[in-house]
Amino acid sequence: MILTVTLNAALDVTYRVPRLEPRASHRVREVAERPGGKGLNVARVLAALGHETLVTGFAGGPTGERVRELLTEVTEPGPVGDALVTTGGTTRRTVSVVEESGGPGAGATLFNEPGPQISPAEWERFLDVYGELLAGADAVALCGSLPPGVPVGAYGTLVRTARTAGVPVVLDTDGEPLRRGLAARPDVVKPNAEELAGITGSTEPLHAARLAQRRGAHAVVASLGADGLLALTPDGAWRVTPPRRMAGNPTGAGDSVVAALLSGLAEGLSWPDRLVRATALAAATVRAETAGEFDRAVYEELLPAVTVTRQRAAAASAVG
Ligand code: ATP
Ligand code: MG
Ligand code: MG
Repeated sequence: MILTVTLNAALDVTYRVPRLEPRASHRVREVAERPGGKGLNVARVLAALGHETLVTGFAGGPTGERVRELLTEVTEPGPVGDALVTTGGTTRRTVSVVEESGGPGAGATLFNEPGPQISPAEWERFLDVYGELLAGADAVALCGSLPPGVPVGAYGTLVRTARTAGVPVVLDTDGEPLRRGLAARPDVVKPNAEELAGITGSTEPLHAARLAQRRGAHAVVASLGADGLLALTPDGAWRVTPPRRMAGNPTGAGDSVVAALLSGLAEGLSWPDRLVRATALAAATVRAETAGEFDRAVYEELLPAVTVTRQRAAAASAVG
């Protein structure tokens, strides 16, 4: 079983409007709801790839109930398992407004609620549940922002617990929670270029990835948007490039990278094979109509067209 953690789950609501204008009234033509929060996205991709997948984190109130309902709806080949811990607060909504006139690939306007306040007792309860779930996990992903009330060092604690339990851990977050998580020596971190620059102060990806690796990550997989991935791993360093720049919606492409890395890890693939899977899956996610989804046939067609190049050891280590 692969476990994903989403401490700040969300109900993603998408409004489709003809045209978006500030300080105007809008007729909403279509409303779509889906489970949101990075770990839930990762879990849905893993389930679609055929992995037994369980999600934990917090859910509460009517929006939390709706997230649980949508998550466990029967999907092919199997649903995502729900091990979310109930909080007395109410799960946040994230609202994205999409313009019909915008055309494919046009950005959405996003509204992100902060999430419910988690009490110290709820956090303790979560730590107990997490410890129990790890006993049956082949790998775990820790994804996204922290809701109010959860200690800023939360990911440090969760990384250490996983490592003590012998479960490989992938971390995908930002800012201070990422900094604290890194210090606990996760197996893999998956920052994008801005997140990597934010914690290292360097906008040069190879240099920044080196710095992040020195801070404690065993492997750094930096995602560079349409330029693909740069990976520094215990087995070597690689640059991986998608077949071409895809037109579409890049939201959730990073979550597909995390899902593919976990999937490849669980199947015992080599690092280059995991990175190729991640790059093809992310490109297929960009191409798909709905954010965070992918078409299996497109993914399989892209797989053999991904380019993976080993980086020279000198280039990989010649960074101060
Ligand atoms: P997320 O919104 O899921 O958090 P992110 O910002 O973490 O995404 P990105 O670096 O933007 O992650 O994208 C992840 C991966 O998706 C990239 O490494 C690349 O392989 C792929 N990707 C992104 N944009 C494109 C594109 N236009 N064409 C092809 N592949 C892309
Ligand atoms: Mg991005
Ligand atoms: Mg991301």
